[in-house]
Parts: sequence; structure tokens; C-alpha cells
Amino acid sequence: HISITGVSKNFGRHKALDNVSLEIPPGTVTVILGPSGSGKSTLLRTINHLERVDEGFIQIDGDYIGYRRQGDKLYELKEKEILRQRVNVGYVFQNFNLFPHMTVLENLIEAPVAHRQLSKKQATERAYELLDVVGLRNKADAWSRHLSGGQQQRIAIARALALKPRVMLFDEPTSALDPELVGEVLDVIKTLARSGTTLVVVTHEIGFAREVADQVVFMVDGKIVEQGESDAVLNRPQHPRTRQFLSKVL
Ligand code: ATP
Ligand code: MG
Repeated sequence: HISITGVSKNFGRHKALDNVSLEIPPGTVTVILGPSGSGKSTLLRTINHLERVDEGFIQIDGDYIGYRRQGDKLYELKEKEILRQRVNVGYVFQNFNLFPHMTVLENLIEAPVAHRQLSKKQATERAYELLDVVGLRNKADAWSRHLSGGQQQRIAIARALALKPRVMLFDEPTSALDPELVGEVLDVIKTLARSGTTLVVVTHEIGFAREVADQVVFMVDGKIVEQGESDAVLNRPQHPRTRQFLSKVL
């Protein structure tokens, strides 16, 4: 369960997040929509403590992200403890940053061996399971830089899953792809959704949101202006900014 409570984040005088609160129950899919600059990426990054919040706090299964609570006070964790927490949160963004000098298999076993104390054999077995999930078993020994964009993104998803995260965050995972490659990546994310992985997805793919989102959140200027069940927000938006946005992207 992800619990975001009164989170604000400033960049200089600019409020990128302004008192955002959001509950994300386990096993659900939350889609975040909003115009450019509305704070969607910043929100995802705070969930990973890649951005430090200025106000409020975020908890995953009760643990404070980036902090430890002692009495009434929150104390920031040490870098090592932050990294240990981050391993529980899978993060996939636009530009599938695979290690280009490694094969697909090497990309998938590096982190679990380093961070989950798996043996190379265990990590390899797990890697093949994940290659089946993303439909790329036949690419295990390929150089990652030789894959298509869609294939690279599917491997990036597999790599994030290799750490068995509690939640997966996706920041516009298909927006850097050629249109004909978008479907194969969305299909992998849909498979994860059906398997009960907790997903938070920033995307402009409204069809995807309709199909798999339990909850849709619409942000403007660092604030959540509308949120609710996907059917309600997408088909009967109440806020004028949501209506305007949906009429443009549909
Ligand atoms: P997009 O749809 O274009 O990806 P977004 O909704 O993800 O937009 P954010 O990237 O979260 O928006 O940015 C929110 C605001 O915070 C923007 O005005 C942006 O310029 C600003 N911002 C984000 N990161 C930084 C940073 N590191 N330093 C200064 N300003 C930042
Ligand atoms: Mg963004």
C-alpha cells in the first residue's frame, strides 16, 4: 500500500507538487494524467526518494520513504538505507536505460546478484522466467543495444521486475517509441496489471487507462484536481481542466 500524505515539492519558488495526497491500494493500477509540467514525474520520483519532499511524507506498507520515524520526528535515512528501500520500487521511464555493453541476460542478473544476494544461477533462472513474461526468451544472449526500442523497453521492465519490487512505477513508458511498438510494451504492462502487481503509470494512452486502470488521477500545476475510478474520471470528468485535457488527447 502506497500512502502519499500532504506532499509538497518546490524547485526554487516553483511549486512542482502542492499538497498532494493519494492512496494506492496493493494490487491496483493507478494512472496519472495531466498536462506537461503538472508534476507527474516529480510525484513518481518522490515515491522513490529520487526527489526529497519539502512537506508531507510517503509510506509504502507503513515504511516512511527516505525517512525513519522516531517519536514525532522523521529523520532522513543514510544513502545506503535509501538504496535498500529503492530496491523495493521498480522504476521504468521513457528512455529504457539498459546497459548497452551487456547482453540481455547480463542486464537482468546484475542487480539481483548485487542487491538481492541471489547466486548467479538463481538470478539466471529468474531472468529466464522474466524473459517469458515479456516474451523475449529468444533474445537472452543478444546485445541490448541491438534490440528494437519496444524490445529494449520490455527488457527494462523485466530488469525492474527482477528485484521483486513491491510496486512498479512507469513514467511515460511508451512515449519514446515508434507507434507500432507501443502495443507490445503496453501488453506487458497489462499482463503485470492482471497478475496483481501494484502499478503507478504516467501515460497519455487513454485506451490503456480505460482498460486497466482502477484509479485515474488528473494533475494540474502540482495539484490533484480530479481522481476516482477510471470510468468516472475518463467518461464523466467533473473538472473543466480534465474535460479540456481529455478532449485533446482522445
Ligand atoms: P511532462 O508531461 O512534460 O513530463 P510532468 O508532469 O512530468 O511533465 P514534472 O517533470 O514533474 O512535470 O515537472 C513539474 C514542474 O517542476 C515543471 O515546471 C518543471 O519544470 C519543474 N521541475 C521538475 N524538475 C525540476 C528540477 N530538477 N529543477 C527545477 N525545476 C524542475
Ligand atoms: Mg514527466
